[in-house]
Amino acid sequence: MTTPFGKTASVRQIKFGENLRTEYVCARCDATYCELENMGAWRCTAYHPMVRANAQSVYECCGSPYLTAGCVKADHTTGEHNRMARAQSELETPINSEEALFMASLLDCPLDALKTRAWRFDDRTKQWRVCRVDWGARTQAMHKQYRQ
Ligand SMILES: [Zn+2]
Ligand SMILES: [Zn+2]
Repeated sequence: MTTPFGKTASVRQIKFGENLRTEYVCARCDATYCELENMGAWRCTAYHPMVRANAQSVYECCGSPYLTAGCVKADHTTGEHNRMARAQSELETPINSEEALFMASLLDCPLDALKTRAWRFDDRTKQWRVCRVDWGARTQAMHKQYRQ
């Protein structure tokens, strides 16, 4: 395996690589995924930012019937990104520059290609933040019901 750090990856990098390739089943759409392909790619097709009201069979965010396609783009998740976040940072995963480069090498793509995913660089912490849901679309969807 070619890495930006030469041929010998550290134990920490190997562990990170293994974690990235571990397969999970998405709690929303039942797709099998690994984080290497998933992070910031927004491939989940079943994310609704608002749950169903108890007595109703439609999602509160968009009025769609239960189990219809998601109304906001998001990553697959085992459940941790389902919660009702108050700040965008709660729905982001930090990743340092070394890890980002390592991911690019595992995917055999230039770092620039990864950045076309929903990644943003936080100048203050000097870290990448991988956005797990389309925060802007999510905010809009969550306010829709109050405009009606
Ligand atoms: Zn999914
Ligand atoms: Zn919805």
